[in-house]
Amino acid sequence: ANKLGSKKERTLAMVKPDALTRIGDIIQTIYDRNLILTKAKMTKLSWEQAADFYAEHQSKSFFNNLLQFITSGPVIAMDIMGDEAVSTWRELLGPTDSDTARREATQSLRARFGTDGTQNAGHGSDSLASAARELEFFFPSTVGRGPPNTAKCTDC
Ligand code: ADP
Ligand code: MG
Repeated sequence: ANKLGSKKERTLAMVKPDALTRIGDIIQTIYDRNLILTKAKMTKLSWEQAADFYAEHQSKSFFNNLLQFITSGPVIAMDIMGDEAVSTWRELLGPTDSDTARREATQSLRARFGTDGTQNAGHGSDSLASAARELEFFFPSTVGRGPPNTAKCTDC
């Protein structure tokens, strides 16, 4: 926590191909939750880049479907900052499975814009360590320029 007692963090958010046209609603949702969008980039991942980004899932049964989907069109990667940004963004996303998300009382981005269990509108880093790795993946060489890639922001 900084002097004001808040825990500013940065996290990597990614809008997946199935929700690309909902970018306006998604940015609105980010600001409504008092998070700030500090960087954004639209890009189409190659199979190799996607396999690198999702390396932790390489042994999973859904790995090929996931890579097929994530490389099927452009994604928008975003660097978002705010109080407990890592968990707050994942909360906004909702459950991994879009259909599970739609059964919840509180609507989430995956409930609103996701398609199914694989095509689920968005990604969010699952820890500060993942955020550091994933921010560096999409926005390289930011070390020493602005908040550090530890994804912690001790003085802001
Ligand atoms: P999250 O994105 O919520 O952190 P995971 O890290 O477990 O979820 O999985 C990464 C992505 O892989 C998910 O967002 C989803 O697109 C896909 N996925 C995860 N689990 C499954 C599954 N059981 N079947 C199909 N696709 C899945
Ligand atoms: Mg994950």
